Amino acid sequence: MGNPRYASGRWAWAICDRCGLRWNAPRLGTERQTNLRCCPDCIDDPYPYWCFSRPVDAQSLRNPRPDVPLQNAVPNLTDEEWEALD
Ligand SMILES: [Zn+2]
Repeated sequence: MGNPRYASGRWAWAICDRCGLRWNAPRLGTERQTNLRCCPDCIDDPYPYWCFSRPVDAQSLRNPRPDVPLQNAVPNLTDEEWEALD
C-alpha cells in the first residue's frame, strides 16, 4: 500500500547521492549514518559498532532534594556519635 500521500515512484528515476548515476528510484537505499540516498553499489554497510543497542546509564534522580552538609541533616548527634560515623 505505502503512504497515500506519495506516489510509489516505481517508474521514477533517481540520482545516487554518491556516484551521481541514474537509477530506478526504488533501488536507492538510505544510509543510516549519512542519510544519503545511494545505489546498491555505493551504499555502505552500517558500522558494526552502531548496530548494537548500547545500555544507557540513568543519571537523573526522580524528586531530587538539594544537598546539605551531613551535620545539618542530622543535627542531634553527640560528638561521640559523630566520631563513630567517621
Ligand atoms: Zn552510487
